[in-house]
Amino acid sequence: MIDLQKSALSLLKRFFGYDSFRPIQFDVIQEVMSGRDALVLMPTGGGKSICYQIPALLRDGCTIVISPLLALMKDQVDGLRANGIPAAAINSMQREATNREIIEKVHEGKVKLLYISPERLLSEVSMWSSTMNISMIAIDEAHCISQWGHDFRPEYTKLAVLKQYFPNVPFMALTATADKLTREDILRQMRMKDARLFISSFDRPNLSLAVDADATTGRQKLERIDEFLQRHPAQSGIIYCLARNTTESLAEDLRSMGYKAACYHAGLSTEERMLIQQQFLNDEIEIMCATIAFGMGIDKSNIRWVIHYNMPKNVECYYQEIGRAGRDGMAADTLMFYSYADVAMLTHFVEESGQMDINREKLQRMQEYAEAGICRRRMLLSYFNERYDHDCGNCDVCRNPPKRIDGTLLAQKAISAIARVDEKVGLNMLIDILRGSRKAAILERGYDKIKTFGVGADMPPMVWSRYILQMLQLGLLEIAYNEDNHLKITPYGWDVVRGSHRIEMSQVLLVRNTARTARPFRQSDMREWTFEEKLFAELKRVRLEIAKSEGVQAYNVLSDKVLSEVVKTTPVNFLEFAEISGIGEAKLLNYSKPFISVVRKMKGLPATQTGLSEDMTFYLINKGYDMLEIAEKRGLKLSTIASHVSKFIQFDKIKPNQYWAFIAPYDYEEIMNRYKQTGGKFNAVEVYGADAYKVTIAFAINRKRQQITQ
Ligand code: ADP
Ligand code: ZN
Repeated sequence: MIDLQKSALSLLKRFFGYDSFRPIQFDVIQEVMSGRDALVLMPTGGGKSICYQIPALLRDGCTIVISPLLALMKDQVDGLRANGIPAAAINSMQREATNREIIEKVHEGKVKLLYISPERLLSEVSMWSSTMNISMIAIDEAHCISQWGHDFRPEYTKLAVLKQYFPNVPFMALTATADKLTREDILRQMRMKDARLFISSFDRPNLSLAVDADATTGRQKLERIDEFLQRHPAQSGIIYCLARNTTESLAEDLRSMGYKAACYHAGLSTEERMLIQQQFLNDEIEIMCATIAFGMGIDKSNIRWVIHYNMPKNVECYYQEIGRAGRDGMAADTLMFYSYADVAMLTHFVEESGQMDINREKLQRMQEYAEAGICRRRMLLSYFNERYDHDCGNCDVCRNPPKRIDGTLLAQKAISAIARVDEKVGLNMLIDILRGSRKAAILERGYDKIKTFGVGADMPPMVWSRYILQMLQLGLLEIAYNEDNHLKITPYGWDVVRGSHRIEMSQVLLVRNTARTARPFRQSDMREWTFEEKLFAELKRVRLEIAKSEGVQAYNVLSDKVLSEVVKTTPVNFLEFAEISGIGEAKLLNYSKPFISVVRKMKGLPATQTGLSEDMTFYLINKGYDMLEIAEKRGLKLSTIASHVSKFIQFDKIKPNQYWAFIAPYDYEEIMNRYKQTGGKFNAVEVYGADAYKVTIAFAINRKRQQITQ
């Protein structure tokens, strides 16, 4: 077990550049390494892939990864290859000849991870089971197997036969959907009856949570979004909207303000959607105004924020959508707008949906969350049945706890006004009555004559609207969607108005002056960028260049988290660069040079570090590779590596007691004898052929020894 841990950790460091496993990851690895099945539940961004990628590297043979989405497959394979791991995908998007070549390579043992769709695997499996060395089967997005899940795919149900074909191969099913029905379905259908269950916390501490109930009109929301974006310059994010045309108009508005925004919804052609998605993945578009059609199968790790322009219909959807931010583990911000109009619209949808009761209940819970008087993360995690017994400090309620007040009188004013107009007004008219407005619509109906007219003139409409939302959420009022969204009083509401119940509400304070006029805004008139921001932008530019030339996504080159470490530590040479977490060996060798060069230029140093190539060799020596391996990895001649080593000897970076790792003592003696006999005048290549590099080393050792004895 200690050995397993050691080798697993060393692979984690070598291929992914990480120093430790996250909770659960190693437990899962241990389980499948002992040949047993496992079901892994982790939230999006929790680190599921490592759970099967490390065993794939540890075990003999090829691991099959079943994945439903072609785009995701390519992304994962690109990511693995960039880390120097032999991975491949078989799918209908590439030529059949290519697929055949890959299958051939799997047979030859040259592929460690093979990504494949369920249909394709099922059509091949009878041929594979006896001839291929399969080390493990991982089923990604395993909730697709369940009718109860939100993303049922019939092909997945046919995977049940796999156990017959591979009775002795460990299976691992992975998903971010935690509910019990789905979980049981996965185990039953995959015939994984003895699989152990691994559940990690669903908390995503790096996501900040906030709700804005102040901005309700389009203009107000746009203003808030503008403010929000100024705090997130040049960062990727998604704005989820309920309606297609909102995505279009919002993107248009943002573009006119100087932002790189686009819209995405199911009404666009496939080509348009692919293009926009691609531009977003590569950071060419920063802001995606999208319906919920966007996001499934998007693995972009550097989404820095998610805004909900409208409240989602339930907490599951909300959590999944905000979960797309911050997958790289870096801080990410989320903001949800919440308004009466959303509640009215969603109520309408619920009434028309097939499963009214469940959906109404779910909407109610969503609204409770929006109105939260306690830490929002506590509410979310308790929704997912997880214990979380402290305040998070990373939500708007924690940062700015609302004051609880006795809201009985407020509620009585509103409810009795509704009663006096026979429950025939909607929100806006009610507020006009309470505030004593003399609008024509009020006077025509004689509402200015009722007893409650003007009893709430001391509070601005926005504040009233917030309190009425709370009354809805508390269950004092209901929206009658089929009667022009008129407000109706519930029995509980009647109790309150009669004075038999007191109620508590969160005090509503208007933080901003809402009458402020929207100023035209250009990104160019933003403040001067700091050194850090400029450096980050430049690193991103270089990353995009590399990504484009290699045909992969930018974040597969280096993640945002790694780039931000670069900004923090500003490494100007290879060895400093190699200290950064999250860069495996392959990436260090392939990408360090251009990024170090960016840092150096920004710091006013010559672009290239002298001795970079030697540093790389030195790094690999310390990792325990021999010279032949180093030459191979770096695509350099052995003689070049030998000349590096001879420098290390000369400058004492390699100590005398380590010399014999580079040359066998008898080789050294033999070369030294010839040296003495010929006075050093012999042609190393003629005499030693491919071993000529040893002469370089022997001479270096010899020179050093003479220095020491002098
Ligand atoms: P999931 O598939 O669960 O959504 P991923 O496997 O994509 O999550 O992992 C999310 C992010 O966390 C990735 O950037 C990954 O490199 C990173 N990660 C995974 N395991 C570790 C670890 N042990 N230490 C640091 N980062 C990790
Ligand atoms: Zn909190």
